[in-house]
Amino acid sequence: MSWTLKKKALSLLDAEQGTVHKDWGGKIAVALVYPNSYAVGMSNLGFQTIYRHLNELPDVVCERVFLPDAADVAELARTRSVPFSLESQRPLTDFHMIGFSVTYEGDYINALRILDLAGIPLRAAARRPHDPLVLMGGVCAFSNPEPIAPFMDFVVVGEGEELVGELIAAYRERYRDRSSFLDLLTGLEGVYVPERYDVSYAADGTLAEVTARAGAPGIVTKRRLKDVNAFRTIAAVKTPNAEYGHMALLEVGKGCGRGCRFCLEGQVYRPVRHRSVAALGDTIKELAAQGEKRIGLVGACVSDYPWIGELLKVVEANGMELSISSLRADSLTDELAASLARGGHRTLTIAPEAGTERLRRAIRKAITDEQILAACDLVRAHGIPNLKTYFMIGQPTETDEDVEAIPDLARRMLERLRVLDAKGHPFGRLTLSISSFVPKPWTPFQWAPFAGADALSKKLETIKRGVRSLSNVRVLHENPREAALQALLARGDRRVADFLEAAARQGGEWRRALREWDGDADFHTTRPRALDERLPWDHFEVGVKKAGLAREWERAHAPDAAPAGVA
Ligand code: SF4
Repeated sequence: MSWTLKKKALSLLDAEQGTVHKDWGGKIAVALVYPNSYAVGMSNLGFQTIYRHLNELPDVVCERVFLPDAADVAELARTRSVPFSLESQRPLTDFHMIGFSVTYEGDYINALRILDLAGIPLRAAARRPHDPLVLMGGVCAFSNPEPIAPFMDFVVVGEGEELVGELIAAYRERYRDRSSFLDLLTGLEGVYVPERYDVSYAADGTLAEVTARAGAPGIVTKRRLKDVNAFRTIAAVKTPNAEYGHMALLEVGKGCGRGCRFCLEGQVYRPVRHRSVAALGDTIKELAAQGEKRIGLVGACVSDYPWIGELLKVVEANGMELSISSLRADSLTDELAASLARGGHRTLTIAPEAGTERLRRAIRKAITDEQILAACDLVRAHGIPNLKTYFMIGQPTETDEDVEAIPDLARRMLERLRVLDAKGHPFGRLTLSISSFVPKPWTPFQWAPFAGADALSKKLETIKRGVRSLSNVRVLHENPREAALQALLARGDRRVADFLEAAARQGGEWRRALREWDGDADFHTTRPRALDERLPWDHFEVGVKKAGLAREWERAHAPDAAPAGVA
């Protein structure tokens, strides 16, 4: 064990509040792994929630593991050690189960790197009886786990809050025999055991069939939490070293009913379930009593929470300040803007997603330019100095005019923003955060082709050129090549596993692995798919009907692309 790495772990633990330390004697040991940095993982409420639920089980000890950074990897190699848990600094190989929490497809490579660094065979089929069981949960697990499926003993499909207890009970009953344990799991709703499915391909390379072996369900159904009030989703461990470490995060509910056609979260977390003000109020009081000063409300669309006004009063009555990550421009009210301003918000974030009203209608984010400009007025009326906006390029039906309209909209927003606030303070900065559209499974745009990195780069140039003459505007964007990787991992099938394995073995050098891979990335990403093509995620059921998605896909191409009413 490296003393340098141990010291680093101890200093992270020192800064934490709420860490769970449990004795290992006779318990089932679960390593909960976030395949990214500590700062990112500790800001993930899903990860924190499962950590708390697992540790609430008396016969389980759950400890956290994060992706080692480049210097840590070198130190692991120098000292011939393997990744270890934060709480007890035990090597990953000491655990009975390793559970990855994955919210971003790009982290698949990191997950495999961690297994590789621990000397655990990557493919489930190659693992030995003494190796830990490897599983995965998180939103990627119920979007499309196929590219990473060959590496997983099982996958938790859906909301895991209720399921963790059932999984542990099954393990306790059958832990001596992996195959018998997996038999038991195939009978649990929301559990997918990849090795119990055979996949075949047609002559043209498309997916032909996915056949369940005896005992496994033909369709794996997502587990859905029935009573959201019964399970609080709140950070278990607080640390100043997390991205949102300065506030207590609280989930107000699950799902969103708006039905934007590009949005995975809006589809797979359905039906919309809001926590009651009473249930949230109890948690807020508890947090206030613990000395928390700032609360960050989290959810697919927080400003749509139906009792937001009441909730704001509860937050303020408890002497706390409020934070919200992103708002819909059409649900920003005077009251909400005032509360955010009182909570010390220096930047408000809205997501127009497209430069023209036409494209916004096509993607079903039907907010008008005037609603966006009215949000700018509210920002200034309440003295909030900065505005951040999210746009997405490469969406279906997008034209050059739609892209050129983004800088034009920025100019019109600036005209409304560049006024002194009530205290005479000038406006600060308008940020355009531009992401590349990746067609996600379970959305009406799942049949759309990914635009391709070169086309996206050109669109980015158009936007940057367009804002060059505007002061107070900053453009942030990801590299379109990263979006191309995400498209491959979000839309690929099991054949993409070879690329993932090569990327992990090459220490995460995915560009090199992609060049050397004998698969065809474009086949999975930029190829348009027919409505009747079998999709890699068709053997799952997440509560979204394919016929409904197809209807929405066709409506998006209607001349006026009018939204069909809020879903
Ligand atoms: S408002 Fe649209 S983009 Fe936002 S969470 Fe809901 S469906 Fe997704």
